[in-house]
Order: sequence, then structure tokens, then C-alpha cells
Amino acid sequence: MTTHAQLLDKYAELTVKSGLNLRKGQQVLMTAPLEAVDLVRAITHHAYKVGASLVTCLYNDEQTALMRYTDGHTEAFDAAPGWLFTGMAEAFRDGNCARLAIIGENPALLSGQDIDKVSRANRARSTAYKPVVELITTFATNWCIISAATPSHAKSVFPDLPPDKAMEALWAAIFKCTRADLPDPVAAWAAHNKALHHRVKLLNDKRYAALAYKGPGTDFTLGLVDDHVWAGGASMAKNGIMCNPNIPSEEVFSMPHRERVDGVVRSTKPLSYQGTFIEGIEVTFEKGRIIKGTASKGAEVFKKMIETDDGAARLGEVALVPHSSPISASGIVFNETLFDENAASHIAVGQAYSQNMANTANMSAEEKLAKGMNTSLVHVDWMIGSGELNVDGVFKDGKREPLMRSGEWVD
Ligand code: ZN
Ligand code: ZN
Repeated sequence: MTTHAQLLDKYAELTVKSGLNLRKGQQVLMTAPLEAVDLVRAITHHAYKVGASLVTCLYNDEQTALMRYTDGHTEAFDAAPGWLFTGMAEAFRDGNCARLAIIGENPALLSGQDIDKVSRANRARSTAYKPVVELITTFATNWCIISAATPSHAKSVFPDLPPDKAMEALWAAIFKCTRADLPDPVAAWAAHNKALHHRVKLLNDKRYAALAYKGPGTDFTLGLVDDHVWAGGASMAKNGIMCNPNIPSEEVFSMPHRERVDGVVRSTKPLSYQGTFIEGIEVTFEKGRIIKGTASKGAEVFKKMIETDDGAARLGEVALVPHSSPISASGIVFNETLFDENAASHIAVGQAYSQNMANTANMSAEEKLAKGMNTSLVHVDWMIGSGELNVDGVFKDGKREPLMRSGEWVD
């Protein structure tokens, strides 16, 4: 029998070798919940074993985060640690420091707090963090996001289990969905990357002009930008290191045209957005913009989110995930985008990824915008896939072919 400590060690090794693909001499900057200290130590061990020059971890604590809302002054909610983010940007710019984010926060931490304070704090943080996001999304360095089970997150996923059982169940699900429970997780990810890269090549060769979706409550056409690039699995960073930015990852994704989305869309899974749950999203797109939107739960937060800026009401990502993905097969709603987005096909409002458009390196912001690339302070994924979703690939001349039927790839 494999013990928890052994599984944690394999997960840590997978993170360092397949996630970051850390190179000798690189530094690592980690962020992690306090409760993930055992995982942080296991990762640190493996990072130094492959030759890390220095491992730094910044811990987050939920109690401390909440005190801003319970004890902080109302005027102070526009503050953000810009100095810290400037330093982080400096660390990543030349590719000598790898970035690892360990997430696992309580998805409902801020749900009881004043919405105005939450959105002001989020906006201030997003604005100050933007230089870091730009370096990460353009792969200035190798980076990876993974998850750790924490008691509050485990409780939100398994509310009926006692705390220790909930933690056990969440860790088991994490190990399974990330393939860390397989005999050789690093080899399993090499094979998985090969399959994803094959799918990416098929889609890139098609040169679809649009995708047409039909499912319960969903009937819309999503135009792709002309020079769109499908991506998925491991990506090459500018420092020449091939990394897996998300573990797990089952999606292939591309860039919607910010002005070519029309029709109605209904979400199929709950979405946790910065401390609040949003469920039952129903929106109408016209010329790329959400002109009407509701949600059965968290409607006010959803409304505030899409009003962040002009790009927050337009799409920045389209992703296809078969309904049979291991995350979907687990039947668990993780209340965490890293996992849930890999359970189902999804779209994201907000910022698009440069890697999803060809030759963006020397393009100005205006040129990118003119080509249909969306820009925003936010990037929020929501799930629209299910076993009932059909997707067609639409060619430039209007001809179409089935791409997914009942949530699965046709070929
Ligand atoms: Zn995605
Ligand atoms: Zn996304």
C-alpha cells in the first residue's frame, strides 16, 4: 500500500519534473496556503535535488486574509502590494526563476463579505499584478499551478464527511486526477502530453473560422481569430524550458474573436469566483459582447465581474474537453477552476492568451485588439460542456463538420 507521504512525494516530484521541468541553477518562487506546508517541503526537497539554486515560498493564511474585511478600514480596500509584484516581475523576466503556485483556498472565504469591498480589493490587486500576469501568460519563464487539499476547501467539496475523511477524499481525488497515483507519473504525463499535442495539431490544421455549439440552454456560434493557435499540454517557455503550466490539464484551447460571438450560453457547473459561488449563468452574446446575463446564484457578483471593464463582457478563451476526462469521470465538483475547467468544455471572459495567436511577439496592443484579441483585468473560466453538448467546426465558406457529439470527440 502506498502511504500518503509516498503519494505526496510522487506528486512533488511530478510537479518539479513535469510541471516546472526545473533546471539546474534556477530559483523557484512558490506561493502556497499555510496548510500545504508538507507539500511545500516535499517540493523543496525535489527542487534542490534537481539543482535549484534557491527555493522561496510565500505563504497565504485565510484567517489573516479575512481580518482585512473584519478589522480593516473601508478606505483601505484599494491598496495592493505593488512593490511585491514589481519584485516578482523582476524575478520572472529573465527566466532564471521558475514560478509555482499552489492553490487550495477556501472557495467561499469571502462570500459573506461586502461585495463592494471584495471587488475593490480584487480590482486593485489585479491592476498591480498585471505586469506579473503578462510575464507568466507570455511564458517569460517556466511556471506551473497545482492544488493542495486544505481543510476548508475539503469541507466545501465534501460537506457531509467528517474533516479528516474530507481531507483524505480530496487528496485521493487530487492524486487521481493529476495521475500522481500511477506507478510512474512523469512517464504518464509524457504520454498524456503526446496525446494533447496530437489533438492540437489536428485542430490547427483544420483552420476553422468558428465553432457552433448546441446543448440544453446553449445555442451559439463562437468565431475564432484568423491567426488562432490551438494549444494544450506542455508549452515551451521563452527560456527554452518545456513546462506543464497546469496540473491537471485535459483541455485544448484557442482564441475567440472578441467581436464574433453570437447566441445564448448556459453554464453547466458552479464557478467559484474569488470567494463566491456563481451558478446557473445564462448569457446572450451579440457581436462578441454579453448584452444580457443572469445567474441563479451569485448574480450580483457575476454582474460586477463582467462590468470590470469592456473586455470582461467578451471572450478571451475557448477550450474543448471531452466529457469522459478523468476529472469529469470522478463526478466531483472541486469548486476550483484548475480542476473543474478540466472536467468540461469551457469559455472564459476577459484576458486572452498571446500564445493563442500567431506572431504576437512584435505586435502592438492596438494591432492585437484589431485582430480580435480580447484584453481585460480579469480572466474567468466557466464550464459549458456536458454529456449533452454538440460542437461543430465551421469553415470559412460556411461548411461545417461535427467535432464533438454528446460531449466526446467525433474521431
Ligand atoms: Zn481553460
Ligand atoms: Zn482559462
